[in-house]
Amino acid sequence: MPTQRDYYEILGVERDSSSDDIKRAYRKRAMKFHPDRNPGDAEAEEKFKEAAEAYQILSDDEKRRMYDQYGHQGVNQNMGGRGFGSFEEIFSAFGDIFGSAGQGGGSIFDEFFGFGGGRQAGAQRRRGASLKCEISISLPEAAQGTKRTIQVTRAENCGTCHGSGAAAGTSPSVCPYCHGMRQVQQSQGFFSIRTTCPRCRGEGEVIETPCKKCRGAGREKANREITVEIPPGVETGTQLRITGEGEPGPRGGPRGDLYVFVVVEPHSVFERQADDLLLEVPVGFAKLTLGTSIDIPTLDGKAELQIPKGTKSHRVFRLRGKGMPRLRGSGAGDLLVRTVADTPKKLTKRQEQLLKELAEIEDKNVSAEQKSFLDKMKDLFGS
Ligand SMILES: [Zn+2]
Ligand SMILES: [Zn+2]
Repeated sequence: MPTQRDYYEILGVERDSSSDDIKRAYRKRAMKFHPDRNPGDAEAEEKFKEAAEAYQILSDDEKRRMYDQYGHQGVNQNMGGRGFGSFEEIFSAFGDIFGSAGQGGGSIFDEFFGFGGGRQAGAQRRRGASLKCEISISLPEAAQGTKRTIQVTRAENCGTCHGSGAAAGTSPSVCPYCHGMRQVQQSQGFFSIRTTCPRCRGEGEVIETPCKKCRGAGREKANREITVEIPPGVETGTQLRITGEGEPGPRGGPRGDLYVFVVVEPHSVFERQADDLLLEVPVGFAKLTLGTSIDIPTLDGKAELQIPKGTKSHRVFRLRGKGMPRLRGSGAGDLLVRTVADTPKKLTKRQEQLLKELAEIEDKNVSAEQKSFLDKMKDLFGS
């Protein structure tokens, strides 16, 4: 191992510098030696990595204390303080200090990644794949909101190697071919082309001794129970995203998401129209004519509906706020009750007798509406 330079010296700060000073010094150096600004410059690359390593130790109170006390030995042995293999590791470890941090304003991080291009994809560990599943619920459940526990078969990090894919006591090493860059540069005349490293297939790391359990894959299939909260107001086609419950990313990358597609089963009496519910109620012709009150079902019980005298068939009564709650909004839709005149096919003798009598009276005592219609008929056909 070559002799290591003092971390404070690398960043150009005093031994008693504040953590803010250290952060500022590192940012300055990182920008100066950034690989996108110094393409192909091996010395700049070395300096960039060196600065990241120094910052990794000095930005962590515990590691800094160990370093102050025992030097490089202290952090190398006790803290697993190995150097950074790849730029991507550096970005994923300290990317946020380029962007936020408040001082200097603007996003320097964006500037970095807009610069030169091509690095963006590798800037972070790759996210795992998303998973999809479908949940069927009843209409009252959709109205109330509910919970469902679902079984998901997905990859989990291997219990033996904890996802690294490397056998116990070993760890993946930086790819010797691309030096962890994931890409290799080839020059052709004036052009230089970056291609995915053929040795590590773009992972930046290689596993020398694969874990026996997962044969180096770092993962194994497992069944997981996941409880899904379904908010009130969902409808068929509503998509719920459960962040971080998808497949794990390769080599310790973040998990993808789980997408839950909701199906709301049809209801025996309510027909849903967006946030409104439609209920069709058959009511006898006599009752519609005379007026009455009827019991109707609602989502949470029963309600009484007053039907005034002379109510026409297919009239719609609107019960405000008795429909479906609005998803992620306030309030609820309405319950629309459509009263439909019931004209029975089967009649008792008595019913038939009464209706015949009524029909005879109707002929003599014509309603205003029927009269108006008959007048129009006369206009059309003459007398
Ligand atoms: Zn394993
Ligand atoms: Zn490689």
